Formats: sequence, structure tokens, C-alpha cells
Amino acid sequence: MPFRALLLQRMPESGLEKRGFSQTGVFHLEAPAFRHPSPESFPSGPPHPPQTAHSPKSLRNFCLSLPSRTYDDLESHSKELSQQPATMEYAALLHRMLIHYLSFTDLHTPTYWEASISLTDVVAMLGRIRCNAYMITDEDMDVVGQGVYLQSSRFDHSCQPNASQIFFGKKLSIRANQKISSVTDVRIAYIPRMFPARQRQAVLKETFFFDCDCPRCSRPEKDAEEFGLRCLNVNCKQSIPSDERADDPCPTCGTAPPDHVNRLQQYDRLVETVITLLEKGADADPDVENWKLLQRCSSLMHDGNPILTALTVFCFRGAPDEYLSRAEMLRTAISFARKFLPVVDPLRSFILFTAVVVFTRATCQPDCKMTRSETERLLKDAYETLAVTYGTNSAHCKDVKLALTKFLCL
Ligand SMILES: [Zn+2]
Ligand SMILES: [Zn+2]
Repeated sequence: MPFRALLLQRMPESGLEKRGFSQTGVFHLEAPAFRHPSPESFPSGPPHPPQTAHSPKSLRNFCLSLPSRTYDDLESHSKELSQQPATMEYAALLHRMLIHYLSFTDLHTPTYWEASISLTDVVAMLGRIRCNAYMITDEDMDVVGQGVYLQSSRFDHSCQPNASQIFFGKKLSIRANQKISSVTDVRIAYIPRMFPARQRQAVLKETFFFDCDCPRCSRPEKDAEEFGLRCLNVNCKQSIPSDERADDPCPTCGTAPPDHVNRLQQYDRLVETVITLLEKGADADPDVENWKLLQRCSSLMHDGNPILTALTVFCFRGAPDEYLSRAEMLRTAISFARKFLPVVDPLRSFILFTAVVVFTRATCQPDCKMTRSETERLLKDAYETLAVTYGTNSAHCKDVKLALTKFLCL
């Protein structure tokens, strides 16, 4: 393994345990010694500095010097939550259920519990969980639960993070994807980074109650360029910014959009539809409508638009046999992952693994639309990425290794 474990620290005793919550999280901070070239920044912005391993001793000492956190240290945002009617309705229901449940313990009467636990306590508990819990995901990026990890709840958010969170069961590992000089500079993404700024900021405000001022959000014009539109000239590869500049003539070929088409409104509606679909995740049925949506997005959005990649992978995962008629779409998603996602990012692993599953099925077909060298590169790339992200003993890594071994024997 190219990683050096810097800190493996069992979580300190916490208020959560005292209040009856099981708390089994392990905070695991690692600094990778990268073998891979630096990826381009995601999706643009200042390039990552050269990736080098930290000094294990200094970072370890720094981590150990951090004060322990307890449940009471977590921000509850009770005031903001109390202004959300739906949240308060849910909290009131939860409060009644809690009193009812605890009254069955025979330790105390309902009156005792009613006097001991107020609605305010329940709102504060909800807020602490909502604003601090991690969504625990498996190798397929499916959410399998939520967990509060006290030590790592201190990390702030950035839409252009310098570290990734990876789960091994319930164990959380925070991995740097570039050189970070201090643990206080670690930034992780609380929300999907593949969404445009307006949608990212709406989720951050609604759920975490802050306005993001990360490098990506601070430059809305750059964000609009990252989430670009296609030029109306089908032979032109220019990405057109998805802001008011969409109405300007293309800077490369000069094609001007017709006045009667409001591409931006159409784009916004498509983005909202895609996000709603992606948020359903594994619960969304593979559907012919999804492919129609992908087709509509693909005709409007530039190949490098992250939301297009996210939808492409989602659709192929549900219906890998579509590859034979839509090979170029998957190739575009793969090149996006290789170009923009750091090697330790679970999303990169997920995209490359999905591609391997699709290609492995496709190679059984007479016209599989891929060369031998292309297949070999994908298999090796997926294997290396999975080995770095989840380890060589992970199920997906073993699957890819088997596919690679078979392929090399052909
Ligand atoms: Zn941001
Ligand atoms: Zn053009």
C-alpha cells in the first residue's frame, strides 16, 4: 500500500455514549505518498500543488494535541431549526415517541421523562446529528447509514476539498489528496461536488446553515464555465458558460444562439431534474426515461460538465447493456474521472469500476467498440485506483483484478 497511516485513534469517551448512543467510529487520518501524477483541480481553479507525503511525526503530534470533542461541543443550530416548520413537526413527533418509549423502561414514570426531556432537547439532538453526521457509503457510493464522528466533525467544508472521506464499514478514513500543512486546513466536501454552485449553496444553507465562500463558490463565473453548455455548432468543441454569456456568440466559431431559445432556463430545469434523480440513488428504478433525460442533457451540456458525467454513470449503472449504442458517453465520463478527480476520491473509484463492469460485459459482444489497449488501460487504471482507495482486499478491487488477469491471459 502506498499509504502511511499517520494516526489511528479510537474516539474519546463522548457524551453520546453517556446518553445511550453507540459510538464506534474510528478516526483515521492518512497522508498518502502518491504514485500518480497530480490530477487537474476539480473541475478548475488553481492547480493542486505537488503532492508529497507529510512529515508523519509532525502531523501525528498535531493530531494528538487536538482537544477531545464531546457531544456538547457539536453545533446544534437549534435557533435556525426552530424556524423550519417541517423540522419542528418532526421533532415534536419524535419527542412524543421518545417519552412513550422511555416510559416502558419501568425505571421512571411518563411524568418523570416529560420533565427530564424537553422538545428543545430533541431539537438540539436533531440539529447536532443533522449538521455533523457523515453519510456512510459503501463502495457503490450507496448510503448505508449515518454516523457522528466526533473528532472528524471538526473538519470544515469546501466544494473544492483537499481531502476525501472513505468508509470501510463504519470506520471513517480521511485522506489528503494534496499536501496539507496543518490539520486545521483539512477541508472535506459535505455535499456532492458534481452539482453547480447555485444548487450546492442551496443545500449548504438549508442543511448546514452557512454561505459557502470556498474557492469555487467565490468565483461564480468560473463555476459557470466548469458547468458549461455545448456550442450550437455541432462541429465545435467549445464549452459555453452556463450564465448570461450563454447568449453571446461562441468565442471559437462565432455561432450565436437564436433569440427565441432560452437555453439557460432549459439548463436549470434539467439540472434540477438530474439532481432529484441522483438523490434517489439506488432507490431510483432504471428507466427508459433516464436515458431520454441523459440524451437531453447531452445535447445541451458540454462533455466536461460534471453533472453530465454524474448522470451518465448513474444510467449505465442501471443498464450496462446500453453501452453498445452509447459507448462515447461512457468514454467521456471515464476521461472526466481521470482528469478531474483525485486518486483517493471514492467517486473516481466508483466511475472506473462502473466502466469496468460495463466494458467486461461489452467485450463478450462481437462489436465491443473498444480496442485492446483501451481495455487494458481501463482495467489497470481501475485496479490501481481501487487499490489506493479501498485496498486490494476490497470486493471491487478483487473483481477488477480477476477481470484484468483474465484479460491479460487472452
Ligand atoms: Zn463552495
Ligand atoms: Zn462554437
